Amino acid sequence: MSRSKEKRIKKFRKKHIWPSIVGLILILLIFILVMVLAFDLAVADILQRKWMDSSSKSVTVSDLFEDYNAGTKDEIEQKVLTYIEALEVVDAVSVVDADRKPVWSSSGEYPVMDELIKWDIMPQLSEKEIGIIIADEGGQIFTVDNGEIGINEDVIIEFLMASGVEEDIEYMGYDDMPTARMKLWLVIPVNGLEVLVLNNVPVYYTDLLMMGVCIILCSILIAVFVIYYVISMISMFRSMHKTTKIIYTDMVTGGDNWLMFIKKGTSLLKKNKKARCNYAVLHLKMRKYRSFCTCFGVNKGQELIEKFYATLKNEIQRNEVTAHHENAAFGLLLEYTDAAQLEERIRKIESMLSEALPGIKTYFGVGVYLIGQGENDIEQLYNNAMIACEMLGEESENKIAYFDVEMNNRKLWERKVEDDMDRALANREFQVYLQPKISTSEEVLGGAEALVRWIHPTEGFIPPNRFIPIFEKNGFILKLDDYMLEEIAKVQAEWLAQGRKLVPISVNVSRAHFTREDLAEHICAIVDKYNVPHDVIELELTESAFFDDKKVLLNTVQKLRASGFRVSMDDFGAGYSSLNSLKELQIDVLKIDADFFRGADVEERGLLIVSEVIDLAKKLNMKIVAEGIESKDQVEFLTAQECDLIQGYFYAKPMPVAEFAEKYSE
Ligand code: C2E
Ligand code: CA
Ligand code: CA
Repeated sequence: MSRSKEKRIKKFRKKHIWPSIVGLILILLIFILVMVLAFDLAVADILQRKWMDSSSKSVTVSDLFEDYNAGTKDEIEQKVLTYIEALEVVDAVSVVDADRKPVWSSSGEYPVMDELIKWDIMPQLSEKEIGIIIADEGGQIFTVDNGEIGINEDVIIEFLMASGVEEDIEYMGYDDMPTARMKLWLVIPVNGLEVLVLNNVPVYYTDLLMMGVCIILCSILIAVFVIYYVISMISMFRSMHKTTKIIYTDMVTGGDNWLMFIKKGTSLLKKNKKARCNYAVLHLKMRKYRSFCTCFGVNKGQELIEKFYATLKNEIQRNEVTAHHENAAFGLLLEYTDAAQLEERIRKIESMLSEALPGIKTYFGVGVYLIGQGENDIEQLYNNAMIACEMLGEESENKIAYFDVEMNNRKLWERKVEDDMDRALANREFQVYLQPKISTSEEVLGGAEALVRWIHPTEGFIPPNRFIPIFEKNGFILKLDDYMLEEIAKVQAEWLAQGRKLVPISVNVSRAHFTREDLAEHICAIVDKYNVPHDVIELELTESAFFDDKKVLLNTVQKLRASGFRVSMDDFGAGYSSLNSLKELQIDVLKIDADFFRGADVEERGLLIVSEVIDLAKKLNMKIVAEGIESKDQVEFLTAQECDLIQGYFYAKPMPVAEFAEKYSE
């Protein structure tokens, strides 16, 4: 598949996904951030209230012990007791010495000394620096901090969790009851003593509630957004899936379309890198599909395509692919073992397809390209299969054509001819050559045929068989024939003015002209521009024109003859010759095809027919021209048979007008 095609499909499919995914991630991040912040704020609030207050008061109390060892113990102890009484955040004060031996306590309560030793915080505290011991209600030390870090949220939260507050959340309605009680000991070294100030910190349910509400709210919000996004992502993926389906679905068959064929085909060929199996790509086309649609309607035509697709789909194997290409053409990528097996399979497919239309004969043209190792550009390969199929023409027959390099060259040539033809006509690259027709009775010039030659600026001399069939296919022959007719009218007018004796010059009129009803008038108009008598112009038609519009042909011939032109039937006896055409068509000249004189084995029979045809033509009052005469024997035979004119290399090859004028100057 071409890069731009791939890009367009990707763009089409992926349009909305990334912003959504990024959006979801962003929103999640924002909410996690908000949640963490809210949580932190709630905890920080607890710390603010419980900790800051008690630390400042504890310092005031500890200051009292400055002179404790100086002998004023009772007084100091008394004062401390009053403080304990007055201050809400100071619930008890205990003092230990440097060896952590109890010295005095307001309540007899100490943090567990062993634990204190274990935690070993004392030596790290300098004078008046605050250390922290957190214990639970039973006095069990939960954590100790030397005051460097301070007490942080994590410690509080851990403490709350360890105290089983989660369970307490269920006691809704007891808002004013402490949910957990934290024993916060502040350790302050004062003058060789360690003063331990106890603050029983109640952690209220409302504090927890605040945190809980924060968490729940944030969780709900996050959940809502996540659900919203998940739903919208699902619907986006579904719509993406739908878009993908539309992109790869053929609207006529409802199956894989051409893009899918390319996609699957390419991947099958790439997988077959080691050429484990042989692949062939086929262009299978029903012949005369348009005529079918004209007879039975476009809807029936489409139904037929659907049936064909279903049949093909059913027929192909797992490692093969098929899709509707255009009109009544299908692409197939088939595995095969050898040429005979492939051909047999194609025949089988054709007969299966024919069954889709019982009672009506359907014919198929199949172009085949046998894929070589490493070839995987399926579009290019399919193009080869199409070229092969195009070479088959439109006959009513099942036919298979295999692509070869020669076909490709022919196609390239066809394209070159089509590119150059208009310029060639404008630049007068098409030149008129004349081939004499010699009268058998006197061996003098009795007429000539105008034959075109293309003198191409880069290709040089090009004979008509290399471009006339192409022009007949693309319609350019109409312009070329008009040009040739006009050139001949000009030449005859010139020679007439020079006082030369004129002989009829024939021009070829392709069958493509017989679609226009005013063809006779058209020809008259061209010739009359040069005031040339009509009887020096002869028009060569081929029998094949009969197969198009017989009425137009008969009418045109009649009109042309009525206005004085001579009309001849070219190539009589070649192709689908029928005496029937002679019955219906009144013409002046019969040109016997060169084929009658070719090939030693058929010569005798051919000559017999020629003599009979000459006889018949004479009876029908027609003149006879024998074409392609190369030998003296042939000339003698034709002279004996009283053939009127002979055209052939025996006398002369076609030559440029100037040369002809000089050679036959009489
Ligand atoms: P055609 O109309 O049957 O022309 C006779 C062909 O036989 C000419 O080929 C001519 O050169 C060739 N020929 C004549 N005598 C002999 C001979 O003794 N031996 C052999 N082997 N060939 C001989 P040419 O010029 O190559 O033209 C081929 C065909 O191209 C013509 O066949 C005609 O059908 C078509 N053509 C040529 N010019 C025109 C044109 O201006 N318009 C149209 N529509 N077709 C043209
Ligand atoms: Ca001719
Ligand atoms: Ca001919």
